[in-house]
Amino acid sequence: MSQPASPKQTALRSLPSVDQLLKTQVEQIATFGIDAVTSSARSVIEEMRAGIQAKESAGTFVEESKETLFARAQQELESRLRADHRSGIRRVINATGVLLHTNLGRAPLSDAARAAVAEAAGYCTLEFDEATGLRGRRGRRVENLLKQLTGAEDALVVNNCASAALLVLTVLAQQKETIVSRGELVEIGGDFRVPEVLANSGTRMVEVGTTNRTRLDDYQNAINATTGLIMRIHPSNYRIIGFTASPCLSELTSLAHEKGLPLYEDAGSGVLTDLSRFGLGDEPVVRESIAAGADVVSFSGDKLLGGTQAGLIVGSRAIVDRLRHHSLYRALRADKLCLAALEATLLSHARDVAFAEVPVLRMLALNAEELETRARSIADQLKPITDGGQLKLTIVAGHSAIGGGSGPNTHPATSLIALRHEHLSADQIEQRLRACTPPVIARIAEDRVLLDPRTVLPGEEQELVRAISTLK
Ligand SMILES: *Cc1c(COP(=O)(O)O)cnc(C)c1O
Repeated sequence: MSQPASPKQTALRSLPSVDQLLKTQVEQIATFGIDAVTSSARSVIEEMRAGIQAKESAGTFVEESKETLFARAQQELESRLRADHRSGIRRVINATGVLLHTNLGRAPLSDAARAAVAEAAGYCTLEFDEATGLRGRRGRRVENLLKQLTGAEDALVVNNCASAALLVLTVLAQQKETIVSRGELVEIGGDFRVPEVLANSGTRMVEVGTTNRTRLDDYQNAINATTGLIMRIHPSNYRIIGFTASPCLSELTSLAHEKGLPLYEDAGSGVLTDLSRFGLGDEPVVRESIAAGADVVSFSGDKLLGGTQAGLIVGSRAIVDRLRHHSLYRALRADKLCLAALEATLLSHARDVAFAEVPVLRMLALNAEELETRARSIADQLKPITDGGQLKLTIVAGHSAIGGGSGPNTHPATSLIALRHEHLSADQIEQRLRACTPPVIARIAEDRVLLDPRTVLPGEEQELVRAISTLK
């Protein structure tokens, strides 16, 4: 006689099969593909099986019907597939007030750059000369725009500023010494550590001076027969204040040239025109670095330049040509989408309309009054909910931030929308906004959720109002 099945065995037998579960997932299979849905279904059932066994051992097992188990498996599977989908790249509303938010993709592209990316997405003239029908040079237009905007003799585009540094150091100073000030041996957001980049390129780093003071003499005394390069790094997200000193760039270039050495500046943020009226006076302007005699300068495409991720290199014809013909360039060169976005962004700079067209610069230029008007307009649209409701909205004075490793001391004044709720904590409000479509990313301070209109793009205001309305 066979023994009656234990409740656990019954439960295990009542679990749905992968095939039964898949029959309910027609839509998900069309969206995510049969393999992804099958493998998720398999893990859901596996985990339910393990859960039943664990509860049995712990003596906490409760019997459930076949239907309940099926519904639970189906729910779990669908929520997993949704979570997986959410882990992909999706648009968000940046209400943090951080212009170059590294986690949110740094600079948002201009309309022109977005259109250029869409156009380049198909077949395009990446390396094709339309006039002759022959092979053309990749990035020629971008290079020409960079020359025009910086006064340099030649230009080249690679993947990001870290690749630019790697390429320059490899080509100019591999197996030679590179002189760097101790005050510039910094780590810049996203794991860019100056000593490591130097080590990876095979150059020997020679540190001179001290953390706060480095003199021209210090550089001069370090130069010997194996010196290949003098490098200057903009400390970006880091400032030493107080008793400090370092030679200006033209003193350094004079010294380098006197000794027959090239000078390389890693300028980082990619400022093409003076931004001192926005408190960004100590970001190097690339044209000024070239005018001061720097032989090669590199900077990012997606910081204050306002384009896409790229490492832009400008400098003397002889040096840039060596970079272009080195095999490492082939591994680091930019792709067509990047070049298309850059071309459009640089064109806005060249036409002198960057402050109207390039989002990062437009946001930087918004003044306190304009921001207050925007905050009030959002608040007014929410009045039907906030008047006498559980959600409390106030407008408070505050500050935005540059982010992305630029202008660490610059905090432009703004008007913030502050949210509190009678029954939700600040954390809960923040989470609810983040769960909206598109997600709204806010910050929390002093137990309030703060939304900065500065970084909310035009056209996103309605979505923001709708997201906040869900908190009523
Ligand atoms: C940001 C920065 C980098 C790294 O640039 P990526 O484009 O992120 O690779 C390198 N150097 C300086 C000085 C920077 O500011």
